[in-house]
Amino acid sequence: VREFDNNVQTIENWATKNQSETVLPPLDSAAKLVKTQEVEQIASGKISPLGQLHESYIIAVDKEGLLLVDQHVAHERILFDKYRQKVGARRIESQNLLLPETFDLTPAQATAYDLVEKELEESGFGLMRLSGRTVAIKAVPADLPAHEAKNLLREILDTVDAEKRGAARDTWRDEIAASLACKAAVKVNMKLTPEKMQWLIDNLLKTASPTTCPHGRPVILRLTMRDIERGFHRT
Ligand SMILES: [Zn+2]
Repeated sequence: VREFDNNVQTIENWATKNQSETVLPPLDSAAKLVKTQEVEQIASGKISPLGQLHESYIIAVDKEGLLLVDQHVAHERILFDKYRQKVGARRIESQNLLLPETFDLTPAQATAYDLVEKELEESGFGLMRLSGRTVAIKAVPADLPAHEAKNLLREILDTVDAEKRGAARDTWRDEIAASLACKAAVKVNMKLTPEKMQWLIDNLLKTASPTTCPHGRPVILRLTMRDIERGFHRT
């Protein structure tokens, strides 16, 4: 455990230190270390999680070196792919709420609601328009914590409004899938079991794009043995 703590310390120092050095790429461009042709290498090798950094990033190793995986965006990517396949096919499972929750829409949200009601239903929401601008939420998508339902609806409706109405149905489906994935994914600052870490990594590698999240953020940062050896002046 001591040794592991020391390793974590080293990685943190590396991350901070190299932001101002040119020997290794700074962290914000380190994601570029994972190039497209490397994705296949990543997917082909066995990746073993060692633990978490600040309960937010999975520290993992493979034969090429060291990997840091953002646990939230990794899960987001997995769920996004799952939802996007299912939204159009109406196959997202719902869970009924014991007590329907009501939700008051602003005029703009009400307009947006009329536009995407069908897509919301396909995404696993059970909704009923009551009088005026009140909506009752009777069911929510199965993976979504019930207390996130109102926030998620608000976020989706505000996005639809901001994007103006011209957008294609597929764009809204993607927006809904991305918002849903974000709300249902594990958060940062959350302790994960070794099994959950392995599950996240294995399923991330099966997605269409393991290295970027639906919003284009990097999911994996990689430090190759070459980078490490160069950093220690071993080459
Ligand atoms: Zn997110």
